[in-house]
Amino acid sequence: MSEAMQDAPRKTREDREIIMPSKQLAQKMGLGEIAFNPDSLLAKYRAERDRRIRPDGNEQYQQPKGDFSHFLEDPYVEPDFTREPLFDEVEVVVIGGGFGGLLAGARLREAGVKSLRMIEKGGDFGGTWYWNRYPGAACDIEAYIYLPLLEELNYIPRRRYTDAPEMMAHSQAIARKYDLYENACLQTEITGMEWDDKDGKWIISTNRGDRMKSRFVVMSNGPLHRPKLPGIPGIDDYNGHTFHTSRWDYHYTGGDPTGNLTGLKDKRVGIIGTGATAVQCIPHLGASAKHLYVFQRTPSSVDVRNDHPTDPEWAASLKPGWQKERLENFNILVTGGYAEKDLVNDGWTEIIRNFLVKVGQGDGKGASRSELLAFTELLDYQKMEGVRARVDSIVKDKATAEALKPYYRQFCKRPCFHDEYLPTFNRPNVTLVDTRGQGVDGITEKGVVFDGVEYEVDCLIFATGFEVGTEYTRRSGYDLTGRDGVTLSEKWAKGVSTFHGLLTRGFPNCFIMGTLQSGFTANFPHALDHNAKHLSYIIKKLRESNAKTVETTQQAEDDWVHVIIRKAKLGLRFYSECTPGYYNNEGRPGERSGQNGQYGGSSEVFFKIIQEWCDDGTMRGLEIS
Ligand code: NDP
Repeated sequence: MSEAMQDAPRKTREDREIIMPSKQLAQKMGLGEIAFNPDSLLAKYRAERDRRIRPDGNEQYQQPKGDFSHFLEDPYVEPDFTREPLFDEVEVVVIGGGFGGLLAGARLREAGVKSLRMIEKGGDFGGTWYWNRYPGAACDIEAYIYLPLLEELNYIPRRRYTDAPEMMAHSQAIARKYDLYENACLQTEITGMEWDDKDGKWIISTNRGDRMKSRFVVMSNGPLHRPKLPGIPGIDDYNGHTFHTSRWDYHYTGGDPTGNLTGLKDKRVGIIGTGATAVQCIPHLGASAKHLYVFQRTPSSVDVRNDHPTDPEWAASLKPGWQKERLENFNILVTGGYAEKDLVNDGWTEIIRNFLVKVGQGDGKGASRSELLAFTELLDYQKMEGVRARVDSIVKDKATAEALKPYYRQFCKRPCFHDEYLPTFNRPNVTLVDTRGQGVDGITEKGVVFDGVEYEVDCLIFATGFEVGTEYTRRSGYDLTGRDGVTLSEKWAKGVSTFHGLLTRGFPNCFIMGTLQSGFTANFPHALDHNAKHLSYIIKKLRESNAKTVETTQQAEDDWVHVIIRKAKLGLRFYSECTPGYYNNEGRPGERSGQNGQYGGSSEVFFKIIQEWCDDGTMRGLEIS
């Protein structure tokens, strides 16, 4: 939120002072008498943040290993699958069959690439939505902008919000439309890649014994795909049934992604974590389990969802180019920019919508940039007061309601939108165990301990998310050796270093998709499509000129890293005020995490930079041979 405003170019002397949100400012900006006190809320937010900050930061988490190593396995395929190893050659290998890989595949096909191989760990395409099949799995971003390539596939989602089965089916439809199943290697994990400088090609090794060659490689490993576990004392002692939400065990729970978890009717179930995933599966657990204990460390912000079936008349009225227009409109608003209309008009765009309405009405005419920034903070308080009031209006037990209220700014953590989560806490068989920001004390053979009470459970579900702050190659599950025998983990040991987030020197013809030093938006597939178009543009240009290799210059890379570090400082104040989580490197949004993060200006600005770079046509900053 408001990153574009933070990115505004000139500072006047007046703007150098920091203006705090206040009742007077609310009057000036036309909000009138506000029912909350911004000073007390700021103090409360800070106190809530401070009691959550831990000295161990990212180190508090551990990888699933030992008894938990099955958390990384694929429960959806036959385990004894085998095939002959491949020693062939293709022009492009795309690693990852999620939306990023699919978009790369689609855009490369459009650019005329015929010799292409998709490599995917899972048994099919879908990425996040292949792995995450937990009951209630769905997307909080409107389906009409979240699902990529809708116009290309001539497909209109069934409802305003799409669910995991529809997203996986759409992924498969993209793969079919662009012939991405052809030559694909599914159930195949990369184990390593080496650059053969003489041949100008990558040699790719996999867990299937393959050693294939490829001129170009696209890495779309997914930013949130490696499940993580909390390092809770005694976690290895637990003797009951356990699984991670990204590998839901329907053999144990019964039911399917629509719920109806009949296997739990005589079971006491515990769930650790209350993030975006937990918010979606807890209503189903509450409806089916004999008893459900929800162990909460930080409450999510849970706003109205208001899902509904797609209106066929509206769908029929859409004109060609509608999805691009809608995508861009949402992105401008959600990054704090200006747009005449709010096409999506949901809880993501509400703060900026209110801001634009007030400023458009002429309220606060002549306000300085600092005052406008403070005004967005005021609107944020107002928004979150609404989210907290909603808890009171739904949850009957006062103490439970109080514990479920989030005290931080809306975009400090992933905001959630759900209409059945809060009512679940009115069920007699559901207990919220609020750990007051500390997390549970321990795990025993029988259950979970907090505040001297042992909660015995038959099944313990980890809704504890995915590795984010760890090294790129660890999260990818493989390393790559570039020119001169240097590995990517060695090169990035002191910090990520790329040109436009896409290429890194010493690793020719290797394209990186994702958030590192690249544009990020809440509607992630939108950013991935920009990556996909960017890399297919480069590959197309190389093919046209019969060039064999492309690599960033040292200067271009250094300049970009400099931009990344400088821009990361823009969000520093915002993120350092936030409660810890993966958005702010567990409460430590320092310089290194800034370098290892996304482009800190708005994604809208980033997309423009890349568009201008492509339009320029000279491949500035690249060495081509
Ligand atoms: P998150 O990382 O968002 O949440 C992990 C949860 O586990 C948090 O509530 C965290 O608490 C809690 N936790 C961690 N350690 C402990 C501990 N020791 N004791 C108690 N609780 C603990 O993971 P999710 O799987 O929920 O979501 C991951 C991401 O996936 C989301 O942020 C979102 O980007 C995406 N997603 C998107 C959806 C969509 O609609 N498009 C739906 C679902 C997920 P704390 O907050 O205190 O750290």
